[in-house]
Amino acid sequence: MAYTLDLSAKPAIQVVGQKVNITGLTRDGLIAALKESGVVEERKARMRATQIWRWVHHYGFTDFEQMTDIGKDQRGPLAEKFTLARPEVVERQVSKDGTRKWLIRMAPGIEVETVYIPDVGRSGALCVSSQVGCTLNCSFCHTGTQKLVRNLTAAEIVAQVQIARDDLEEWPSPKEDRKLSNIVFMGMGEPLYNLDNVADAIDIISDNEGIAISRRRITVSTSGVVPELKALGERTAAMLAISLHATNDDLRDLLVPLNKKYPLVQLIEGIRTYPGISNARRVTFEYVMLKDVNDSPAEARALLKLLKGIPAKINLIPFNPWPGTNYQCSDWRTIESFAAILNKAGYASPIRTPRGRDILAACGQLKSESEKVRASVLRKAGQNGTDEVETELPYGHLASGMV
Ligand code: SAH
Ligand code: SF4
Repeated sequence: MAYTLDLSAKPAIQVVGQKVNITGLTRDGLIAALKESGVVEERKARMRATQIWRWVHHYGFTDFEQMTDIGKDQRGPLAEKFTLARPEVVERQVSKDGTRKWLIRMAPGIEVETVYIPDVGRSGALCVSSQVGCTLNCSFCHTGTQKLVRNLTAAEIVAQVQIARDDLEEWPSPKEDRKLSNIVFMGMGEPLYNLDNVADAIDIISDNEGIAISRRRITVSTSGVVPELKALGERTAAMLAISLHATNDDLRDLLVPLNKKYPLVQLIEGIRTYPGISNARRVTFEYVMLKDVNDSPAEARALLKLLKGIPAKINLIPFNPWPGTNYQCSDWRTIESFAAILNKAGYASPIRTPRGRDILAACGQLKSESEKVRASVLRKAGQNGTDEVETELPYGHLASGMV
């Protein structure tokens, strides 16, 4: 099966049917789209954008009819050109530890998972996905077994936050006592292979007159796409997390195959020069604890040597098993001894308590059934399609006998 990846693509304005989806437009994008629509007079576009922005991103409204400061005569025409509709939540699961997971259908065959974890960060963190599937087959990661279907649009990334807010009943944006205080790009996919859309989504989510989650509470995790690190810092000012998992190239090549392209020396150099890095804005290093693979005291010491001079904290993640994996989680005592070596050297190195394991919502367990299907396959199955175009269908269709 052929996969076409246009990783350089600029973020597209998402059009649903004939309508532009407002959710994924930045402020400037919204002003431009309103002008272009012809519904709003050019000189009033900025003011209208401010009004709409507040209803959508502060109040969470999904209907133009609710926007009381916009004339009735304008609401209908706006609704004809634009949409505010949320994507469909196909499944909602709640773990016994309070973690919530939503399976969201962005479009036919485009499904992603989003997870809310209470009592993480300031009060609760939302783990959002940036791609459907992933191109990088890290050997211990469930998402890595799902081929990339496509990048999510900015609208689809912001929609994950909106859906969590709907479920947590957190509209309008509360000033304090929020249940959702932090955002982590640690769901499905590699955010730095979708930077344009991720950056637009961060602009929208962090806007003070909207969802208003500060950039310092937004963390982007990468497996180490070195050439994009600088752009990430400059464009988003988000906090950086690096999925490290090994302290030498031989092992990291096996765990995170992207390491063959950007080996540790390059990665560490890229991190040292990450814009805005300081003691107050430390880089988080994620280190999955794999039994007898990367969990020895010698490796803890090698980690200290590797990170020397970088303002860092280290998250030790007990490996979360998934169906079909050959890895095992390190013993608890081994993890504690590893953490003790790091702590002694002055690093904050919390062991991340696994959350939501019972509903496969923990780190690296996310996966949806979406699969890219060639148009030729569809044609054989009696549906429309051409060889040039590719379309997507959920895996369920294949399983039900299409091929
Ligand atoms: N693709 C990005 C964002 C995903 S973040 C990245 O790799 O950084 C998800 C985090 O969970 C990453 O640190 C990833 O390495 C880690 N992870 C993946 N599979 C895991 C598993 N089975 N158990 C524990 N952590 C895992
Ligand atoms: Fe992709 Fe991250 Fe999983 Fe690696 S760990 S396969 S980069 S989602």
